[in-house]
Amino acid sequence: MKTMRDQMTRQWNLRLLRASGDTSTSFALRTLAPKLEAAGVRALVGNRWSDGWGVDKIFNARTQQTPTIDLSCEDYGLVYRLTENHQNPLLRIQAESENLGEVPVFNLIGEIRGSQKPDEYVFLSAHFDSWDGSSGGVDNGTGTITMLEAMRILKQAYPNPKRTIIVGHWSGEEQGLVGSRAFAADHPEIVKGLQALFNQDNGTGRVVNVAASGLLDATSNLAGWLARVPREISRNITFGFAGSPAGGGSDNASFACYGAPAFSLGSLSWDYGKYTWHTNRDTFDKIVWDDLKNNVVLTAMLAYLASEDPTMIGRVNPDSARAAFAATRASGDTTGRAAGRGGFGGPRAWPQCDKAPRSTNPRLR
Ligand SMILES: [Zn+2]
Repeated sequence: MKTMRDQMTRQWNLRLLRASGDTSTSFALRTLAPKLEAAGVRALVGNRWSDGWGVDKIFNARTQQTPTIDLSCEDYGLVYRLTENHQNPLLRIQAESENLGEVPVFNLIGEIRGSQKPDEYVFLSAHFDSWDGSSGGVDNGTGTITMLEAMRILKQAYPNPKRTIIVGHWSGEEQGLVGSRAFAADHPEIVKGLQALFNQDNGTGRVVNVAASGLLDATSNLAGWLARVPREISRNITFGFAGSPAGGGSDNASFACYGAPAFSLGSLSWDYGKYTWHTNRDTFDKIVWDDLKNNVVLTAMLAYLASEDPTMIGRVNPDSARAAFAATRASGDTTGRAAGRGGFGGPRAWPQCDKAPRSTNPRLR
């Protein structure tokens, strides 16, 4: 059955490629949708099954004015079969939306000023936007809640930190780490003074993967902090030693590309890739509160330990890091999974710092 399903998908894709008259790319839908729109179709109806019962991936529409609709696997199958059998199914679609043009988006930043080393920073990080198939319960509601609550605890229990503690709730992450990239580019002094950044963005599970983002000299600091975390929290964590820098999956990459210590708190999956990530089922009810409490305490403790650490964490020049990283990759070290987005794998080379897109309208810049 699986072989047959794969075969049918391949045939369907081939058919799309032929229909679009473009055999040079495997992204036929990208090129096909605008062509169909230009030809005057009333709507585009599709389905992108996420491999789980009742779950669809929801990504961009490739049309500007024409509605693009996701039909559930079951309904899509019915419409498809009726069409294939020339029974002319008729769909009535009611869709309302308004294009507001370019609109400003904002990062939300909170800060507890450092009492002894205000120009060195511990950063809590999570993106505040979500994809629009559902309300974003775990991508990235849970990351946001974690950082918000960790900050509340720190403010109460540790109101005069040694170093400055900042929380960044980023906008435009889903469009390419826009908010965090712009922030890192606008604040070189914070990137330079970064003691540690902790980012969480792969679902509701308890943190199980931590690594030093490819920074060999940061490994001992990070291991030392984790060793001071109570066992009921740390026993879940696989420490990936140096690991590898984030390959661009989430906002820690916007800082790690400068060679700064920006770490991912990698969560247990809880079927994230299949059932919640960018699907129509990423909702509030998927949140696992016990795991979230675990993550909040871990994050607050790591922030405290990073702030108190008498040594500044080892950082690297991105150029030399690039060379060293290439060398470790060549020697076969592929233990860096934890540093990327949980389970998404690390990059093949030290990542470049991409520029955030900025508005051409000076009032929105
Ligand atoms: Zn996310």
